[in-house]
Amino acid sequence: MFLYQNIFYLVRGNTQAIWLLKGVEGRLGKKNRMIMLSVHGMQLDELKEWMSLQGHKPFHAQQLIEWIYAKGILDPALMTTFSLKLRELIAKELSLQTIRCVKTCLSDDGETEKFLWELADGLHVESVLISSDTRRTVCVSSQVGCPARCSFCASGKQGLLRQLSTGEIIEQVYHIDRVLKEKGERVCHVVFMGMGEPLENYEAVVKALRLLSDADRLCIGQRRITVSTVGVVPGIERFAEEGLQVNLALSLHAPSQHLRKKIIPYARKYSLEEVLKAVDLFAKKTKRDITYEYTMLAGINDSPSHAEELAELLRGQKCTVNLIPYNPIDGVRFGRPEGGDIEAFRDILSDLGVRTTWRYTKGKDIAAACGQLALVGGRG
Ligand code: SAH
Repeated sequence: MFLYQNIFYLVRGNTQAIWLLKGVEGRLGKKNRMIMLSVHGMQLDELKEWMSLQGHKPFHAQQLIEWIYAKGILDPALMTTFSLKLRELIAKELSLQTIRCVKTCLSDDGETEKFLWELADGLHVESVLISSDTRRTVCVSSQVGCPARCSFCASGKQGLLRQLSTGEIIEQVYHIDRVLKEKGERVCHVVFMGMGEPLENYEAVVKALRLLSDADRLCIGQRRITVSTVGVVPGIERFAEEGLQVNLALSLHAPSQHLRKKIIPYARKYSLEEVLKAVDLFAKKTKRDITYEYTMLAGINDSPSHAEELAELLRGQKCTVNLIPYNPIDGVRFGRPEGGDIEAFRDILSDLGVRTTWRYTKGKDIAAACGQLALVGGRG
């Protein structure tokens, strides 16, 4: 019964129940179906335990990981090193693919591709593959919808619909990596900047971070993974103690509590002072530099005096400020600052000693840029 302790959701008038299981990954599929455990969300020892419980040798767990990750095989019938009985059992009780790509959109310049996934319960999330000369980065979603409801972001417009499981997070990278492999390419960076607030889905995200960097799986170095947060103080403090080497990005967006509170509802829950203290703790514990994301909203947070205030706020910190010009979303009245204003803002920060990057916005034409990921979106 330890499997079934955790949370459950009743979706669509009780016709379907989705269980997210603590420790072991799983879901209850369509009515009356068996519990399906997603292999992608299971650690090796959990998979070994599963094998033993089913009366099979634990070493088959490692072989199963090899079939899926080294050989790219998702059909148990093709796993010829297993007995017929084990193949059938895997097919019946484990899920090797819980999310399905139902649509992709490629940007005009070919550098950004958006993937729309359908989950087992019919909900949808999106991921974005961002390509440059040297890297392939996947931007993953961590929740369906988002509880943060930032005023300028499409993802939170409907609030949080449900948490993603570890398997559902990892599969976004796994399936994109599979497509890339066919072209001789691999995913090398992952950013948790899609839909959702990763630190409000803490356990599933931390488990995903460990599994993403597993050498026998996707082997994405932790230093190549970035988790972006709106500023969930208890989550950041806990995250600092995990012994992970991932990067943390804080969605700052304003140089003062007064202004931040106006555009980010979560700032009412956690003050800027508390958030910066928690981020500082993370930087000290992990020895990783922090990135501050600053979405520039015309006439709201983009003036020279805001830049000066920001430089003062971050004085003495080893960090980078990432300026993101606002990407328009439907039904929101914010404006994108003129290029000149962004440049002036950046120059003030640089002159005052703050390292600044200006995020070249990718994927705008397919609504795949920051904050544009909604539940179903993009062009035809
Ligand atoms: N919940 C996480 C991940 C959000 S998406 C967080 O808050 O950090 C990644 C970044 O895009 C965040 O900094 C977010 O604030 C920013 N963003 C959201 N909507 C945007 C928009 N319309 N234009 C530009 N950036 C946006």
